[in-house]
Amino acid sequence: MIEYCSIGSGSSGNCHFVGYKGTNILIDAGLSGKFILNGLEENDIKADTLKGIFITHEHIDHIKGAGIISRKLDIPIYANFKTWCSMKDKIGKIAEKNMMVFENEETYEIENIIVKPFSIEHDAADPVGFNFYAENDDKISIATDVGCITENVKRNLHRSRLVVLESNYDQNMLMVGPYTYELKRRVMSNVGHLSNDDAAKFSVELIKNGTETILLAHLSKENNFPELAYQTMSSVLNQNDIAVGQDVTLDVLKRNSPSRLFRVK
Ligand SMILES: [Zn+2]
Ligand SMILES: [Zn+2]
Repeated sequence: MIEYCSIGSGSSGNCHFVGYKGTNILIDAGLSGKFILNGLEENDIKADTLKGIFITHEHIDHIKGAGIISRKLDIPIYANFKTWCSMKDKIGKIAEKNMMVFENEETYEIENIIVKPFSIEHDAADPVGFNFYAENDDKISIATDVGCITENVKRNLHRSRLVVLESNYDQNMLMVGPYTYELKRRVMSNVGHLSNDDAAKFSVELIKNGTETILLAHLSKENNFPELAYQTMSSVLNQNDIAVGQDVTLDVLKRNSPSRLFRVK
């Protein structure tokens, strides 16, 4: 049984928890150390059981609390080489033994959890999404800050039982919203973020390939609303004869509070 919960997710900070057979890890730590530790407590997860923090990329909304948590709990941070180069000056001093380097597309065993980082498109040094596998090959996936759905993203997310998927912005809200022209272009580009529409279209494909739970993540504060992301997704699913609540569990992860604990059996 793989366990997942979000500690908080949105353009202002991201942190996820994954546990399997007593091995517990965090993915990103882009909120304050205190917020993350409180969030874990809310779901009865003991911070001293954490075995490490896996980093997707060096943007501040993914690393803000990583140094603090690593120092406080004396646990390693895992990131690829380019991400380490880009983040090490931003997270304070990390003990050398806690600086772990992974390579994209390789699989790693952290006690009972099997982790595979895979490359995604985003305007960071070497951004990744993650797959987490159980012994029977069941997997769950986290893919936020995905500028576009590449073949590699498809390959890695297909047949994931639970997918945490970015649903960053509503196209119309972005267009009429407060961002500068340059920033709008950046968000919409292939190395920016995933729109509600694109997340919905891709989810149809995922559900047809066996995904049972979709959790919408990393919503923009300025260019989206949780209700809008949910509505866009559920109407596209309905048009494709997928019944929300019956064929798929759909939820929107909150910016400022932890989700419930999801269990993939
Ligand atoms: Zn980012
Ligand atoms: Zn981000």
